Amino acid sequence: MEAIKIEAYLDNAATTKPLKEVIDIMVQIQRNNYGNPSSLHKLGIDADNLLNNARNIIAKSINAKPEQILFTSSATESNNLAIMGALKRLNKKGNIITSVIEHSSVKNLFNNLEYEKRYISVDKEGFINLEQLESLIDENTLLVSIIHGNNEIGTIQDIKKISTIIKNKNKNTLFHVDASQSFTKTDIDVKELDIDLLTLNSHKIHGPKGASALFFKSKRLLKPILFGGHQEFNLRPGTENIPAIIGFAKAVEIAMNEKDKNILHMRKLQKFFIEELLKIPRSELNGPSDLDKRLCNNINISFDFIEGEALLMLLNHENVYVSTGSACSSKTLEISHVLAALNKPIQLVQGTLRVSTSKFTTMEEAKYAVEKIRSAVKALRKISHLTPEELR
Ligand SMILES: *Cc1c(COP(=O)(O)O)cnc(C)c1O
Repeated sequence: MEAIKIEAYLDNAATTKPLKEVIDIMVQIQRNNYGNPSSLHKLGIDADNLLNNARNIIAKSINAKPEQILFTSSATESNNLAIMGALKRLNKKGNIITSVIEHSSVKNLFNNLEYEKRYISVDKEGFINLEQLESLIDENTLLVSIIHGNNEIGTIQDIKKISTIIKNKNKNTLFHVDASQSFTKTDIDVKELDIDLLTLNSHKIHGPKGASALFFKSKRLLKPILFGGHQEFNLRPGTENIPAIIGFAKAVEIAMNEKDKNILHMRKLQKFFIEELLKIPRSELNGPSDLDKRLCNNINISFDFIEGEALLMLLNHENVYVSTGSACSSKTLEISHVLAALNKPIQLVQGTLRVSTSKFTTMEEAKYAVEKIRSAVKALRKISHLTPEELR
């Protein structure tokens, strides 16, 4: 008998496997509900009802109203609309603030904006410097944008504290949060957290690609950045991607129902991975050691004197699929800006592995992956000319 082949997909921070329920409902909608929600006949009305139902589900999941949720094509687009749309509406000079560990969709947007930009640094575990944030905000601060759960090192920022600091210092400063990774893995209540704009992602929570949402506290906060039809409260033109949006809502519904159970499962795997991988000599955890302040599916560990890319390729041969840190830097030898912000020695962070689990990850896969990572690190250290003799 042939041994059953284990395949460990541990790159869920990059994207997740769509749920069967999600695929099923999307196929059904493609077949039967192909109407345009803007059309006035039955097929259009049916599509519009489906769309509104999806809006209700997503609004409820973050304690928002349906008229505060609009759909976009991706979290990248939601981030762009939130920040550019708000600045366009404000239509005045001023400064904008973000952290040094943002996702590239916020980081590179900031790089391309003609405003005075101010950056908040982070500590060794990736928590933003709250005193610095307070000192950076002044009467000309238009907007602050902060990533909730970091996609590389899993740090969960204290959003309540951050919003309190912002609003106390300047009540007119808008607060945007990128919750692409934290959504359904932490509690998000936009009222309680006093958030103005919030980005949600579908394909990071077992929904399809091609859909994303943006929460906006009030329609008065935004202007559109694309021009066309009247869809999505006149804020995001273009025919809605109904199958993807309905699939997204289905994923949200299921994730919210299973939230506690899934978090517990991923926490167990996370503890196992961290404990086992830190047994490897000269390894170090990146991101919070207090797991309550860390995304439940994120493990990020550096191994001294090896290359993360080489490690990734060896693991790929064993059907263990991980990432070296961030999807954006995975094709270059550059250290990601997030790891660079932690101020750790270069020979350590170049050998970084991000393992990100999902509710589908099993303990058997975790054990298999740990074993393969252990032997791959050993093999690379044996051949590495960088390695001091005593490490062999
Ligand atoms: C994945 C991700 C995004 C971008 O999502 P896309 O689907 O690539 O547009 C933005 N922010 C964070 C934190 C992410 O993890």
